[in-house]
Amino acid sequence: MFLSAASDIERASTIQPGLQTEKTMLKELEKHRKRLRKEIREVERGIAELEERLAEKGDYSLGEGDPSIYLWEMNLARRKRLQARLDELRAAVSHLDGGTYGVCSVCGGQIEPDRLELLLTTLVCSRCARSAR
Ligand SMILES: [Zn+2]
Repeated sequence: MFLSAASDIERASTIQPGLQTEKTMLKELEKHRKRLRKEIREVERGIAELEERLAEKGDYSLGEGDPSIYLWEMNLARRKRLQARLDELRAAVSHLDGGTYGVCSVCGGQIEPDRLELLLTTLVCSRCARSAR
């Protein structure tokens, strides 16, 4: 009786923390997924807006210094940046789906939760990021 109770406590204390972390981890992942989805929607909206503006291409015959040309080129650069971000975000979601989100693509270790929190789409842990620099 005493023995079984002791081993129950032992089992509880060894299994429980593991389950807890796994649960917390899953919760974290769902949170990240939500943030990724939200940002994807925002970026897609941003791209659509820029596409509209870019469609009204400035009249280049107006000459080099025309501000509308400058604006058009700026929007083109912005769309390029947003597109790159969208690719990153989509890659992160596919990592989430494949169960490899948060795994460092260089060393295969776990990416620090704090780092993921800040850099939602990072593919490397901070140690590998430092050594790549
Ligand atoms: Zn690493």
